Amino acid sequence: MTEDQRIEELDSALTDLARRVADLQVAVSGVQGTIEDQRDVLRSVDGLRETVDLLVQRFNALLPPDDPDARFYSPITTPRFWQLTGRDRERAVERLRAWVDGVYRSQFGFVARKLPACWEQHDFCLVVLDVASELHSCLYLQPTRNQGLLSGQAELLTRLMPALADLMASEGKCEHSQNIYRANGARR
Ligand SMILES: [Zn+2]
Repeated sequence: MTEDQRIEELDSALTDLARRVADLQVAVSGVQGTIEDQRDVLRSVDGLRETVDLLVQRFNALLPPDDPDARFYSPITTPRFWQLTGRDRERAVERLRAWVDGVYRSQFGFVARKLPACWEQHDFCLVVLDVASELHSCLYLQPTRNQGLLSGQAELLTRLMPALADLMASEGKCEHSQNIYRANGARR
């Protein structure tokens, strides 16, 4: 083999090698693209659950289904009892009355029985029941339950509801109950 032939052979081998390296580069960047795509996919799966929950909540806030049990929590505007009068006030009280009759009395046993009969006449009780009902809705009208929500429910049952009930019971030692007492006394 002449020197020229050898150089030609080496040159051809080099060209072949260069082509293979180029092919490999294409393959590597293809794999890299796939890995990045998969990372994006995994990242989007991570966020998907929150996104779905959020969408369900937004959907329910926009279009509450007819079945009240299927509704998820969406916050209401805080009622400003110090400003509410007339029909607006009646509506806010009606909302609380519906919760007291539909949820509080049936779910909170002896705690709920502490509610003074004259609660509707005490702004303090309205304010407390507003917080109690919103806390309950927020903790119980959720599409899924995680550890944080569960411990929130335990906190509500063992500490918050009993404390709120005691506050309202203290407020209920009022002129209304004395009037009832006097009325009963007069009848005797
Ligand atoms: Zn009272």
